[in-house]
Amino acid sequence: MLDCAIIGGGPAGLTAGLYTTRGGLQNVTMFEMGLPGGQIMQSSEIENYPGFFEHDKTGMDFMDSWQKQCFAFGLKHEMKKVDRVEKMGKYFTIILEGGEQVEAKTAIVCTGSVPKRAGFKGEDEFFGKGVSTCATCDGFFYKDKPVTVLGGGDTALEEALYLSNICSDVYVVHRRDEFRAAPPTLERIKKKTNIHLVTNSVIEEAYGDAMGLQGVKIKNKEGSITDMANTGLFVFVGHDVRNEVLQDKNGTFICKMNDWGQVIVDLSMHTSVEGLFAAGDMRIEAPKQVVSAAGDGAIAALQVISTIQEQA
Ligand code: FAD
Ligand code: NAP
Repeated sequence: MLDCAIIGGGPAGLTAGLYTTRGGLQNVTMFEMGLPGGQIMQSSEIENYPGFFEHDKTGMDFMDSWQKQCFAFGLKHEMKKVDRVEKMGKYFTIILEGGEQVEAKTAIVCTGSVPKRAGFKGEDEFFGKGVSTCATCDGFFYKDKPVTVLGGGDTALEEALYLSNICSDVYVVHRRDEFRAAPPTLERIKKKTNIHLVTNSVIEEAYGDAMGLQGVKIKNKEGSITDMANTGLFVFVGHDVRNEVLQDKNGTFICKMNDWGQVIVDLSMHTSVEGLFAAGDMRIEAPKQVVSAAGDGAIAALQVISTIQEQA
């Protein structure tokens, strides 16, 4: 019986692992289906993690010491995919892909959420090299430069507002002429003189060279192409929350979720199920940053230690 099963080994899961083991729990396993580190490993640069200011380090370099630190305090890593988490009486059963089962007194789920891709030419090629899904992470790289934003939902428009305070001009490209975003957000957008709405249009292509993105081609409904020699493209076409492990055999969630599939937690990262915590990008109102995911992992771990003490 594990004291705690951590599912997902990104910044939230690794920090939960550090705090639980260093806090005295002897028997903690982190189930991470790939290399520990999470989605920040795809980043070529990280500039907004406090205390880390080395421009030549990639996301992979950045996360390397996180896992070493956790393992030094006794965290175990099982490189296995979790199929689902079930509550069995007071405790949890972690069901792994292939059917193996592990019992745990508590569980912290930190499986993240993945930004959707729009599917235009060059999107994957220049992802992380000019095509971004995170304005907070990458907006500063385009200070006083023009950028293009793709999408017409709340995220796209809110991130366009954020970028408009940093970048010279923000071109919001949306495939329709009506926006999915809340009307007050659209009104705020319209008041910003450096945000330009480019409706009934799609990204035809993101192009560049070995150095990264050089520009984007925007195609309107009539088929005419505008070549924008922008240096930044931000894609906000929705998120897939990785919440499958919280679904039972019938596909019903075992804890309360919001309409967008994010886990509802309180300020202690506690879900609606006793002993079950969720941390990082998968929870409600997540800022989707390494620093906040790490903070969530620490909060959840401290709660787990209290829960185990109460159970003893
Ligand atoms: P994740 O990092 O998504 O980790 C979740 C982990 O769970 C993954 O490793 C996954 O393999 C694992 N997992 C999922 N399902 C299962 C399962 N069923 N079984 C086992 N394991 C599973 N943030 C910043 O603060 N600054 C930046 O500069 C920055 N740049 C970024 C650049 C890029 C290209 C990307 C993609 C993201 C960037 N971010 C940045 C955002 C940051 O990476 C995330 O906010 C952060 O990683 C979220 O951490 P997490 O632990 O919640 O989830
Ligand atoms: P979303 O509401 O699903 O919007 C995605 C946008 O991207 C839509 O405008 C969609 O166009 C467009 N799109 C999707 N696929 C595309 C493609 N392949 N090519 C081009 N455009 C594409 O996603 P979201 O903005 O991330 O929001 C998700 C949920 O979170 C929403 O319910 C939203 O209200 C909520 N949210 C709320 C707040 C807030 O309340 N402050 C903030 C952020 C998010 P169409 O409109 O034509 O489909």
